[in-house]
Amino acid sequence: MVELKNIRVVYNKNQINEKKALDKFELSIKKGEFVTIIGPNGAGKTTLLKVLTGEVVLDQGSFTLNNTSIKRTKPYKLFRNVGIVYQEPDRGVFPELTLEENLILGSKKGNRFFSFGKYEGLELLKSLNMGLENRLKTKVKEFSGGQKQALAMVLASITKPDLLLLDEHTAALDPKNVEKVMELTMKINKELGLTIIMVTHNMKIVEKYSSRIVEIKDGKVTKDFVYEKTHNTEELKKVTAN
Ligand code: ATP
Repeated sequence: MVELKNIRVVYNKNQINEKKALDKFELSIKKGEFVTIIGPNGAGKTTLLKVLTGEVVLDQGSFTLNNTSIKRTKPYKLFRNVGIVYQEPDRGVFPELTLEENLILGSKKGNRFFSFGKYEGLELLKSLNMGLENRLKTKVKEFSGGQKQALAMVLASITKPDLLLLDEHTAALDPKNVEKVMELTMKINKELGLTIIMVTHNMKIVEKYSSRIVEIKDGKVTKDFVYEKTHNTEELKKVTAN
């Protein structure tokens, strides 16, 4: 589904401040997997997401998504097949439009319109009991951060992209909304069947929700393992501390 082979990304190439953000980076992800990416600041996590959205051109290596090789030189072609939700709730919604208008716009993918998207999206939002049941005609700028982020998740998912990327998507939320947005994340993975890659620094989320965990340090994968919920958390701390 996702195959990254021998990836190298270099910022400021041939300049005094040249930086290899990813080097000999390898990762393989199957359809429907939920993968958590962890690692210290500067490890290369955001750069990995930029490779997957096509925001950076590869210096070396190959990237295959759903059996299609993504040409290093034409990364923008990814745009329609990869959804992303960022840390800031306003980034993923249209604040000046109503909830209904957001859902209609979010159901468009290129020239195609996913008519079921609006209803499926609304059903997902309703199922969270976040007070969005009767707010179709309300402008989204009036929503709380948690409500906006739940909508951003739905908008990034309803056209069923091959891949959904979550870039610290709960970092700006209070604990109650973190739980709601994670509940939605799991529904999108399990019920819609989307393949998800989530970057987080929040170890409580990792302990509660993660299955496969990939650790990145200095631009390389340093650990790749399945975290069993039956493990005690001390064991996870030990693994991630090394
Ligand atoms: P954080 O957890 O702090 O967000 P990260 O794991 O996401 O870190 P990246 O943002 O991918 O790490 O950065 C990897 C390395 O590349 C870091 O050393 C960073 O300083 C450098 N870097 C990132 N973006 C650029 C850029 N546009 N120009 C130059 N160097 C960059």
